[in-house]
Amino acid sequence: MIRFNVPPCTGRELENIKKSIESMHICGDGEFTRKCSAWLEEITGTAKCLLTTSCTHALEMAALLCGLKEGDEVIVPSYTFVSTADAFVLRGARAVFVDIRPDTMNIDETLIEAAITEKTRAIFLVHYAGVACEMDTIMDIARRHDLKVVEDAAQAIMCSYKGRPLGTIGDFGCLSFHETKNFSMGEGGALLIRDPACIEEAEILREKGTDRSKYYRGQVDKYRWMNYGSSYLPSDMNAAYLYSQFEMAEEINRTRLARWNQYWELLLPLQQAGKAELPVIPGDCVHNGHMFYIKTGDPEERGRLIDFLKEKGIMAVFHYIPLHSAPAGLKFGRFFGEDRHTTRESERLLRLPMFYQLTKEEVAYIAGAVREFYGM
Ligand SMILES: *Cc1c(COP(=O)(O)O)cnc(C)c1O
Repeated sequence: MIRFNVPPCTGRELENIKKSIESMHICGDGEFTRKCSAWLEEITGTAKCLLTTSCTHALEMAALLCGLKEGDEVIVPSYTFVSTADAFVLRGARAVFVDIRPDTMNIDETLIEAAITEKTRAIFLVHYAGVACEMDTIMDIARRHDLKVVEDAAQAIMCSYKGRPLGTIGDFGCLSFHETKNFSMGEGGALLIRDPACIEEAEILREKGTDRSKYYRGQVDKYRWMNYGSSYLPSDMNAAYLYSQFEMAEEINRTRLARWNQYWELLLPLQQAGKAELPVIPGDCVHNGHMFYIKTGDPEERGRLIDFLKEKGIMAVFHYIPLHSAPAGLKFGRFFGEDRHTTRESERLLRLPMFYQLTKEEVAYIAGAVREFYGM
């Protein structure tokens, strides 16, 4: 059976975890957390990166740092993972779901402005499959309407838009190191902070409302309760696992892109014959091979293809059920305008196995099976 996902593992993880244990600092903000944050700051050029316990928690921190509260409205795509909306719904803000573009599956930037009301405070967007949203347009709208922008860049590490790393363009960027992502620590994430003026508040929020981060750096002689907060910092043992992959980041990224490109070449004939559609990567975007999907003719065909692949020992899966039609979506938000693409496109999309350890031979086998299904 070819699994849909295998957690990334380079073989060096145990060695780093052992070092973490021997350092006798296994709680948060030890040597490996510092190394991971420094590496992320270097590759993204952001003012500050804070490692977190998940992308969900990084998004929650972003919602708190944006000052979102009861009665505020946040513009968000409906085609996303629940955490994007949970983050601000927890603060009492309401979701205004905007339709997606059928090509990239990202929020349709041309619909955002009309969805703004006097209650709108922020835009939470998602770079689906590591392919950037149309950021110039979105940042221009945000500037003109004084809105915060939070990038759910859970899938978008090492991706860029017009040369700018994703997660660094809006006010806050949130990365995920869940086991399904390109780089993992089991559960984990990171918050990228663009404005240096927000760093201190973020550090306090992450450390139970205390200035312990300053204390660790020797900037104060005791730490105190400064503000509300929670515990958003991961164990250094988990960071040790993650750092093993950062040490091989180029190799992991190159391998994933090679598998992605191989899928693309082998499946292109299906698109040319009008049988299925392949992902669209706009010219301004560099992606990271996070996900390879195809779009089938309709949901019924997708169901048959999933069954066909399962018989061949291949696990292929669909993705998000649109949030606006889910029970919580109905309770916490509303869809702006017409749902032209969100439901329709989500019901056609099928993700094929994609992970670092996937081999060329496996990709050839999977693509062959998909072509066989379509009689090609
Ligand atoms: C994976 C993912 C998340 C959640 O990440 P966690 O680290 O599991 O909290 C949020 N948003 C998107 C778009 C994701 O793909």
